Amino acid sequence: MEAVPNQQRNSLQNVEKNKAKNKIPNDVEMDIENLYEILPQLSQIFRIIDKIGEGTFSSVYLAEAQMNDGSRRMFALKHLIPTSQPMRIAAELQCLTVAGGTENVMGVTYCFRKEHHVVIVMPYMEHQAIGEIAGSLAFEEVKHYIFHLLKALSHIHKFGIIHRDIKPTNFLYNRQKKEYALVDFGLAQGTTDTQIELLKELLESRCVFGERNLNNTNTKPSVEKVEGQLLKPNKEEAVPCKIVSTKRRLVPVRAPLNGQAQKDTPVTLTLSAQKLNPAAVCQTLTCSCYMTDRICNVCLSRKQQVAPRAGTPGFRAPEVLTKCPNQGTAIDMWSAGVILLSLLSGRYPFFKASDDLIALAQIMTIRGSKETIEAANKFGKSIVCSQELPRLNLRILCETLRGLRTCDGSLPAEFQVSHHPTDAGSAANRGSLRSDEELQEMGWYKVPDEVYDLLDKLLDLNPETRITAVMALQHPLFNDMTDSLM
Ligand code: ADP
Ligand code: MG
Ligand code: ZN
Repeated sequence: MEAVPNQQRNSLQNVEKNKAKNKIPNDVEMDIENLYEILPQLSQIFRIIDKIGEGTFSSVYLAEAQMNDGSRRMFALKHLIPTSQPMRIAAELQCLTVAGGTENVMGVTYCFRKEHHVVIVMPYMEHQAIGEIAGSLAFEEVKHYIFHLLKALSHIHKFGIIHRDIKPTNFLYNRQKKEYALVDFGLAQGTTDTQIELLKELLESRCVFGERNLNNTNTKPSVEKVEGQLLKPNKEEAVPCKIVSTKRRLVPVRAPLNGQAQKDTPVTLTLSAQKLNPAAVCQTLTCSCYMTDRICNVCLSRKQQVAPRAGTPGFRAPEVLTKCPNQGTAIDMWSAGVILLSLLSGRYPFFKASDDLIALAQIMTIRGSKETIEAANKFGKSIVCSQELPRLNLRILCETLRGLRTCDGSLPAEFQVSHHPTDAGSAANRGSLRSDEELQEMGWYKVPDEVYDLLDKLLDLNPETRITAVMALQHPLFNDMTDSLM
């Protein structure tokens, strides 16, 4: 880093200055003060101005540094929670250093470490929250946004990086400058042939669950051994996958199961939190609840299937929600599809699911229950749904939600109510608040079929056939996108 060390610029002065300006609340001041105390070197280089992000795993600050040429530059300082696994932190950094700084992927400038405190320094990118602008985006902006997201995905996937947490808050967008940056590799995993060494090591050390370690930095060897057995589960190890109880709120009517034949490779989806080989139970006891909407005692006592399950429920792919152990870069493509669905319909977030089963039920509501069950069967999972939900036409769905057409009976009447209960009957969150002229100007009356074709291919329930980022960039939708637009 070419910043000029500035001894006088100490933290106390900063806080005084901030107080004088009366710009930032006290708790943020305290956090900034704490950070200066933890890593005193920071105060020699940066003036930390504000906290701009706070999640479960990190706090992100806006900071200014004076450069050698006298200019001032803004940086984002990501302070990782001190309980993060060292290996995870190192892997996050390596993703940024190896794949970042180009192709719409955030780069890294520097990294500070003292004991278990780590601060990643990145160039600051001013950005808008998608939640705030989703309704005001023109169609062309949506198209560009998705194009640039696909570019970032194609780039990281080339390195064998699975991001695992693709969502708008991790894909920064500067609307004025038309700049884009993929951030947050805190949940990233490697493909089996990844070029990121530390992701490879993460895979081998079985830290693949995406659950960032909140309370312990030492993994007990015995735990690793148990989890390791599940890395390559074979057919005999599997038990029935059940979608239970939570679903019934959304699909209350029981219906026949379309003559669905019993699969021999089922896997439990019970809600227990333990991680153990499910085969241990399965081999000795017989389940009596398979293909019913109850859970028998055998299944209740089963240990939870272990599979990577990172990310945010509403953006998770069906294979993630059903805990399929073999997950690849296709999971990021699904999330990109959910983002596109959200931007086309003007509803953000689109799927508001508090847990995986609700998320899966919501996917079925859009993509069809039969189709979801069929796809799950292909990746070795069996789902029981008590009601058949038809697959919806994506154009009709998006246009209805945006207020371009009135609900004409082609969508299930209860859809909007059950899916977005708070929006029911209120126009506040609907596209219909915009005048026809506005919608016309924004291009929403001449949305090409290609975009719905791409959406359909991104939201392919089967990861094997789901479109890749490289293929998506070549989709006819982007025929007119030249390098000058990128
Ligand atoms: P977390 O793991 O806590 O989600 P992120 O890396 O996603 O951390 O950062 C959290 C938020 O901080 C982002 O959603 C974004 O708003 C902001 N942020 C992160 N990196 C930058 C950056 N380089 N420039 C500007 N803002 C950033
Ligand atoms: Mg994030
Ligand atoms: Zn059972």
